[in-house]
Amino acid sequence: MTVDAIAGGAYIVAALLFILSLAGLSRHETARAGVIYGIVGMAIALLSTLALTVADAWGGAGSALGLTLMAAGVLIGAAIGLWRAKVVQMTQMPELIAMLHSFVGIAAVLVGWNGYLAHEPIAENLVGIHNAEVFIGIFIGGVTFTGSIVAYLKLSAKMSSRPLMLPGKNALNIGALVLFFVLTVWFVMDQQLWLLIAVTLLSFALGWHLVASIGGGDMPVVVSMLNSYSGWAAAAAGFLLNNDLLIVTGALVGSSGAYLSYIMCKAMNRSFISVIAGGFGIVASASSDEDYGEHREITAESAAAMLESASSVIITPGYGMAVAQAQYPVADLVARLRERGVDVRFGIHPVAGRLPGHMNVLLAEAKVPYDIVLGMDEINDDFASTGVVLVIGANDTVNPAAAEDPGSPIAGMPVLKVWEAENVIVFKRSMAAGYAGVQNPLFFRENAQMLFGDAKERVEDIIHAL
Ligand code: NDP
Repeated sequence: MTVDAIAGGAYIVAALLFILSLAGLSRHETARAGVIYGIVGMAIALLSTLALTVADAWGGAGSALGLTLMAAGVLIGAAIGLWRAKVVQMTQMPELIAMLHSFVGIAAVLVGWNGYLAHEPIAENLVGIHNAEVFIGIFIGGVTFTGSIVAYLKLSAKMSSRPLMLPGKNALNIGALVLFFVLTVWFVMDQQLWLLIAVTLLSFALGWHLVASIGGGDMPVVVSMLNSYSGWAAAAAGFLLNNDLLIVTGALVGSSGAYLSYIMCKAMNRSFISVIAGGFGIVASASSDEDYGEHREITAESAAAMLESASSVIITPGYGMAVAQAQYPVADLVARLRERGVDVRFGIHPVAGRLPGHMNVLLAEAKVPYDIVLGMDEINDDFASTGVVLVIGANDTVNPAAAEDPGSPIAGMPVLKVWEAENVIVFKRSMAAGYAGVQNPLFFRENAQMLFGDAKERVEDIIHAL
């Protein structure tokens, strides 16, 4: 049997494992198996591709140099990847993922350029298709590349999360797409080098502009959207490289990312089209300097006493719980309260934290039972009949302005209605705004009290007091 045939079979097995992996990742209980399917599938895919490449190049002119360079590239890349994955903090995960998406984007651009500069002879009737693939691959890759870099800069707070509001931004986006269409037709008819340079620059500018135009609160959709773009970029590269597995994997990533973006848009009550089109039609609203009055503070001891006498407690965690790594003491606190007969549940907002499912991952890590971890829709009607809500490092996801102030930048985004509970205790370090940069009137409500300090330390203080 030839290496080609074995690799072809291995590719089918890898593609099936990727599908099983996605299916597994959709539920808590099967997520671990899903990850393992993914790892095995990727190992098979990598080994088969390496075997194919070596078999193809073996004995050819310059093959020793080519293979040595490839091995060196793989080793250096793998070493950097292992090191980054080992040192990255859980809270830096989204920015790492954004950066990795940018690599997929630039890889697709390079594969596209290579498809123009050095390709095998192509049958005459397929030349047009090949050229269209080159052009489209470079465009999707370029948008993904710069879009992901902006997402990385925004998520790591190296760039302001405010939306960039260029005059006529919608016309700019639509103009760029029309120009891309015209250039593609031109390139298919006449393969001028300058057209390729033009589409590369156009895609870089469009990617940058699309993501820069999206405001802080909508960033979760951007991350999943870039995930989807990176899938389509990989699929486009697959067509150029004649690699079936890359096409299948790219399409899986592209479509599941698009579906995830759609789910997140629905959860945030945003129009899918307006977000993917770079905040299309969204008008920046002025930030309000409204005076909400004074806030009240509470000590850990009083909070412990309040919790002890409550019959029902809901905990709504957010990004601050991830920063403080407070999930372990939180799990401990929950166990102690449940031992005392207090009904404790978690209310998880779909975009709490900085990654889809961020809070679920942290709570699973701390071994909180799944059955008391509920989604926003499942728990939102129960706040009114709840004694105490602990808002642990959440801010935007519990902001009443989203529900009550139509002028707020996060207006219309469904939030956890924590303010309907009898008492709310907010764990944070200061009165600072959340990720979307919007002041939170919850902190000034009659039934809300602030417990200032690092969330982990304050939860430990409460456990101590109990
Ligand atoms: P926010 O980001 O709105 O607020 C987090 C709060 O945690 C801050 O107000 C901060 O206040 C507090 N905090 C930070 N560190 C600590 C600490 N060590 N101890 C205690 N408190 C701390 O959180 P949410 O989870 O409510 O909202 C998520 C936001 O992120 C939304 O706007 C969402 O759109 C956005 N986003 C979500 C993504 C996702 O996929 N989930 C991806 C990208 C963006 P202080 O500094 O005063 O302590």
